[in-house]
Amino acid sequence: MLILNSLLKMKKTLFLISILFFVIAGFGQSETKAKYVFLFIGDGMGVNQIYATEMYLNAKAGEIKVDRLLMNNFPVSSNMTTYSADTYVTGSASSGTAMSTGFKTNNGILGKSPDLKTDYETISVKAKRAGFKVGILSSVMIDHATPASFYAHQASRNMYYEISMELPNYNIDYFGGGGFHYPKGENGDQPDAYENAAKLGYTIADSHAEFNKLKKGDKKVFALNPETYPLGEFHWAIDKKEGSISLADFTKKGIEVMDNDKGFFMMIEGGKIDWACHGNDGVSMVHEVLAFNDAINVAYEFYKKHSDETLIIVTADHETGSMFTGIEYVMHPELLKYQKISVQEFKRKMGKLKVGDEGVSFNKLLDIIKADFGLGNSDVGLSLDDNEIALLKRVYENQFKGNQDVNPDADYLSTDEVKSIAETAAYILNKKAGIGWGSSDHSSMPVPVRVLGAGQNEFTEYFDNTELPKKIQKVMGM
Ligand SMILES: [Zn+2]
Repeated sequence: MLILNSLLKMKKTLFLISILFFVIAGFGQSETKAKYVFLFIGDGMGVNQIYATEMYLNAKAGEIKVDRLLMNNFPVSSNMTTYSADTYVTGSASSGTAMSTGFKTNNGILGKSPDLKTDYETISVKAKRAGFKVGILSSVMIDHATPASFYAHQASRNMYYEISMELPNYNIDYFGGGGFHYPKGENGDQPDAYENAAKLGYTIADSHAEFNKLKKGDKKVFALNPETYPLGEFHWAIDKKEGSISLADFTKKGIEVMDNDKGFFMMIEGGKIDWACHGNDGVSMVHEVLAFNDAINVAYEFYKKHSDETLIIVTADHETGSMFTGIEYVMHPELLKYQKISVQEFKRKMGKLKVGDEGVSFNKLLDIIKADFGLGNSDVGLSLDDNEIALLKRVYENQFKGNQDVNPDADYLSTDEVKSIAETAAYILNKKAGIGWGSSDHSSMPVPVRVLGAGQNEFTEYFDNTELPKKIQKVMGM
């Protein structure tokens, strides 16, 4: 009896020890192992782009208040350096390559070494090999530098056609967002890249009906936004029409299609934050950050159901525009609400008004500017002084009476464009609101890193962008 009793006691102790062991092991695992990973890249999104958006939310005249975006409530908040192999000021291709492969390369190169002799393996391929599903999403063209960095290997990011032909080669499970830049090559005389993707097994869903039909377990999906600009990027969030498919919708669909027991890696790019900043269009930038934030919210809803196994990382490839908030102690984020249209769409509107030699009168133009940018509305603190009116008059003469056409669909990378009425109105409004721009190009500023979930502690210290994929691979157990 005594023996039996002590045996029972021993058994109980052993049982307690093994329980303790499993608790510790389980704890350790939930700390480090991420099965579902979301990597959000806000292209061009520096700390100030986020902060301007936070000041803009619920801004009221005479009230100092900052509402945080979800990412700034994440427990890990650090910074990342972005310099490329050949310059302190990176481009999207070299930065994307660093974040996807862990190697630095020269500006403009995608997934290759600076001497172009070595192709670097992407995190997408590594994740596929480890049994994860992989999704690549963007609000701009899917063959644009950032999304392309997660699959392609080309000497130049501008080789859009070659990139679009390379897209189907890696069995990526889900592409979502914008289309191909030049599906038949720059001259339109090459084999169709969409047909090539279809031939290699991809289902191309390019209508609302086909998008809605996509479901869990679908393989090799290329979900295209049916409503884009001619080059393949989304319309601006500020101009977005009811019912159009957003980056958040593509993220939601990605989760639906790829949800599986082995997990997934999803890269989601908010590509037009950068474009708005290249154009120094502060208000459109704010709306792009908000649309990006909506997509992060979708991931957060998923996280809430799988918090032990989900990791959300929000970062950027670089800052764009050397944007700053506050000009000589002036900061009036509430004034940004009066811009109702993107600079690009306003350019289009101006193009339509330019009929005959004269177009509209300058006074009529001032009325339009008042309606679309609030400028000239003294009731809300946006009166125009003589210098500002003179500046608008100059660009008006240029655009309507001179022979200086403004192409609303011009690539933001083109440099031959004249400053338009739209850009000038945005410049005046930004300045009155306290948004300043140092340039219309990238800067070398470190970028924010905000992290939540399994393995988050891996990201707490200041690091370089080449460390990012290594950290993700570590927490995914790859
Ligand atoms: Zn970029």
